[in-house]
Amino acid sequence: MKEKHVLGISGGKDSAALAVYMRDNYPNIDIDYFFTDTGKELPEVYSFLSKLEGYLGKPIIRLNPEKDFDFWLMKHKNFLPSAQARWCTICMKLKPFEQWVGNFLKEGYTVYSYVAIRSDEEYREGYQSRQDNLKIKMPLREDGIDRNGVIDILNYSGLGLPDYYKWRTRSGCTFCFFQRKIEWVGLLERHPEAFEEAKRYEKTAEKFGSPFTWSENESLEELSKPERIAQIKKEHEMRLQRMKKRFQANPLRKQQPEIDIDDLYGQSKVCLACHK
Ligand code: SF4
Repeated sequence: MKEKHVLGISGGKDSAALAVYMRDNYPNIDIDYFFTDTGKELPEVYSFLSKLEGYLGKPIIRLNPEKDFDFWLMKHKNFLPSAQARWCTICMKLKPFEQWVGNFLKEGYTVYSYVAIRSDEEYREGYQSRQDNLKIKMPLREDGIDRNGVIDILNYSGLGLPDYYKWRTRSGCTFCFFQRKIEWVGLLERHPEAFEEAKRYEKTAEKFGSPFTWSENESLEELSKPERIAQIKKEHEMRLQRMKKRFQANPLRKQQPEIDIDDLYGQSKVCLACHK
């Protein structure tokens, strides 16, 4: 029987940890690692992928969409993608994957796709494939590996977390609308050219009557005003202090854990293709 094993790397911590876990624990499975590249990813994502390739000892296959973001934006009448209209994920992440895997399926392969759902995450039926010869595997979930387990895997491997975790917990496009306000501020401060590009997209979209801004209820022009930045940072700091106090108040907790942006703002709205 012809078999293929594939594992999608998003640039995020969970899929990277899964790749490390598979290489270390199932070295006999020959896995094709792939990354669907929108061309709008953070530079930190590319350097993390290079480090990961070094650890895995093989290249991560890049799947590029046939057309770039600008093409798809025009196709969508310059309306920005949003949580309600997520054409970006469909056109730039899911379709390239389906086309690539579709070729193997047509050739009669059974394809095993390894997905980075952790044991502490809710299980959703939607993760299952609708094609008989495309099988979904979730080793982290099956083997009881949770968020701390993922962080341990990355630390023990020497890879650690991707660099952007210092200011953002999402991989994916620089202008991803799932970013929190504080992450937009981080983008402005660390990658001002990418922030300016996002601003230009937003202005064009506005001219064409797009109902969406990248960030909820305000434009990037407004968000980048010094007084607004100061307010966002202040609110973020208050959240951080509140959470630290909550941890300190817990006598069962011996050590102060690392608090990341997901802890402060909640983990909802994570996209498997873009952010795992
Ligand atoms: S990272 Fe965000 S903007 Fe990019 S494709 Fe995914 S959902 Fe869309």
